[in-house]
Amino acid sequence: MLRSWVEVSLDRIAANYRAVKETVGAVEVMPVVKADAYRHGASAVAHRLEEEGVRWLAVSSVSEGVRLREEGLRSRLLVMADTLAAGADAWRSHRLTPVLHRLEDIQRLPAGISYHLKVDSGMSRLGVRAEPEAIVRAVRGTPIEGIMTHFASSANFQSGQTADQVATFEELISRLSVEYIHLSSTSPIHFGLKTTWRNLVRPGLALYGYVSASRGPAPAHLLKVAPALTWKARILLVKDLPAGARIGYGGLCTAETPLRIAIVGAGYADGLPHRLSNRGQVLAGGQLVPILGAVSMDVTTIDISSVPHLDIGDEVTLLGPGLDAQAMARAASTIAYAVLCGINSRVSRVFV
Ligand SMILES: *Cc1c(COP(=O)(O)O)cnc(C)c1O
Repeated sequence: MLRSWVEVSLDRIAANYRAVKETVGAVEVMPVVKADAYRHGASAVAHRLEEEGVRWLAVSSVSEGVRLREEGLRSRLLVMADTLAAGADAWRSHRLTPVLHRLEDIQRLPAGISYHLKVDSGMSRLGVRAEPEAIVRAVRGTPIEGIMTHFASSANFQSGQTADQVATFEELISRLSVEYIHLSSTSPIHFGLKTTWRNLVRPGLALYGYVSASRGPAPAHLLKVAPALTWKARILLVKDLPAGARIGYGGLCTAETPLRIAIVGAGYADGLPHRLSNRGQVLAGGQLVPILGAVSMDVTTIDISSVPHLDIGDEVTLLGPGLDAQAMARAASTIAYAVLCGINSRVSRVFV
């Protein structure tokens, strides 16, 4: 009997993929399966997406790419955030495609390997920050297959940063002829920034059923997607407390009245944010019930006074319909991405 586990619906991920595909029409979709597919299980997710017809997948590191190749994935694999040196022989042996982030790396590419060049158009993170002439000169005559950039603020319609980034990038690509041009993650797809879709988009979050909220009015809300992951844990112990009892590390919570509590088998080592201490909720017996006191490493205490029939071995839902990763993220002062990616590998995964 599992103590804490996630249930992942590959059908739901496939449906989310098709929703993206229908939205962008003729534009090619490169699903982002980095970070173990945002903890949904990169191998299973990638295999399912290949059945749906994808020809490109994006990962962060060489080791993520090597693992997918060894698990039999046949798509092109774009490594978005690693060094050229990290690939060494793997670029060829595992047919990985590097994203390069500086012009001097172009000359160091192994023979026969094509590359995508990332341009820092104003986010000041990965990518080349150089004058267009220098970039045009450096890529001429080299096996460049794609050119890309990434937006810092694509859900923020009160900011001019995206428009500035687009202008910087457009100025460069107007002087180049490259097979793939790609700028868009989930938000520029969802919010209908069609001029940024070019001929390839890189959605991650949307495949897993989420879109960020916009800041300010967005031009459109195009994607209809739904979460694919439910996170559950079992009740390990139930007990009744008298008024005045102090609950958990630090005595952060005191029972004001007699309470029935349940100790649930998931804690911050499983990825339940410690910031949910005394403020988060879980779904128990079909109701939202509060977390009492500190989330500890392996267990979390909840108030089941309103659902007193619950007993040892019953399951509670940490994430699922009625309590999604965005709601948990709000309560924990973090973001849905971090909630999903934070689910620890000791939490078993079941595909449903
Ligand atoms: C993670 C990532 C994406 C996917 O972003 P989502 O917001 O999850 O769609 C796309 N491009 C790059 C460069 C990324 O790092």
